Amino acid sequence: MIRLLFAAFLLTSCASSKIKSSVSDDAQKELANRLAQKYIIADGHVDLPYRLKVKNFQLEKQYVGIPVKSAEGDFDFERAKKGGLKAPFMSIYIPASYEPAGAQLLADSLITMVKWIADQNKTYYEVATTPADVIRIAGQGKIALPMGMENGSPIATLADVKGYRQKGISYITLTHSKDNKICDSSYDTTKTWKGLSPYGREVVKEMAKEGILIDVSHISDNSFYQVIEISPVPVIASHSSARKFTPGFERNMSDDMIKVMGKNNGVIMVNFGSTFVDGEVAKKRTENQKKLGEVLKAKGLTFRDDAAKAVIDEFMKANPNAFADVEQVADHVDHIVKLAGINHVGFGSDFDGVGDSLPTGLKDVADYPNLLYVLIKRGYSPADIEKICSGNIFRVWNAALDYAAKN
Ligand SMILES: [Zn+2]
Repeated sequence: MIRLLFAAFLLTSCASSKIKSSVSDDAQKELANRLAQKYIIADGHVDLPYRLKVKNFQLEKQYVGIPVKSAEGDFDFERAKKGGLKAPFMSIYIPASYEPAGAQLLADSLITMVKWIADQNKTYYEVATTPADVIRIAGQGKIALPMGMENGSPIATLADVKGYRQKGISYITLTHSKDNKICDSSYDTTKTWKGLSPYGREVVKEMAKEGILIDVSHISDNSFYQVIEISPVPVIASHSSARKFTPGFERNMSDDMIKVMGKNNGVIMVNFGSTFVDGEVAKKRTENQKKLGEVLKAKGLTFRDDAAKAVIDEFMKANPNAFADVEQVADHVDHIVKLAGINHVGFGSDFDGVGDSLPTGLKDVADYPNLLYVLIKRGYSPADIEKICSGNIFRVWNAALDYAAKN
């Protein structure tokens, strides 16, 4: 209702009908930019650390541009400022191939990297471990860097949960692309535990006790329902979208799961990647990739060969990849709001984590205002938008911290 009144206000505040739409459109764009600057935009998942690791980012060396101003990747300080992003959760991403010992080494090195970035750029960044931190840091014009660990594989023993909280981790995604010691993955067909393992149940309870948010992105449906059953606190999906638009893609959340998240008082942070947003686009991209593989094979090449680059470029020029667009990302927000309510949706872009698959209109962290503009156009009020930008994740995060303080 508030939303309708607000839309009516924007429309009636203009004179003639012709001018009405264009002025209104400009006013909505202006409002989108204003709200992006005014509100704290938090993002559940930004893969900067792993992108830098892959690029051989070395702490002891003077870096050029990264991560303050850079032409590379989807994230840097200047673009984040432009887009209003103030709290990107830095993903401490551990690929499934790492065994516990290697997983811990990698997790520690990525955490060290994030802290080092903040330390070397004190006027731009500060590590955050609570919503209060984020609010204080954003208030100083800086960007807060909370950290989320993507994959629980470094949790070799229950004591590691507390250890990672002390190192600054605010959420843990229970697994990644394979079943692990904790639970089954949506991408794995093995179904090792048919959900959570006995150890995984202990880990979930320990996370709640230590005030680490439980992230259900990447886990299998069975794991999800079992987590919801035993979690004493609301949970998050740090970077998942709605399965309705990508039928059969278990990595996204089904309608029932979205409703359950609402009842759990949790938050679903929408992934922007085109293959998460549009099932048809995902299919076309897979087909394209397959065709390209065949072309390379016929020439005796693999994707990794240096000589493959020219072939790949030529193929992609002749067979451009399909993309979703910013309106479709807003469809996911709408769908979650319809099923669970305005208090249960947020942004979890996966910037720096989904390669060249970002939708038209949402290509990097400067582009959040484009999404806010679409939401305003659809009748979302400023108060709604504040909830989506950070109000919802702050509520869930504070609930987890409150629970930990009492237990
Ligand atoms: Zn992920």
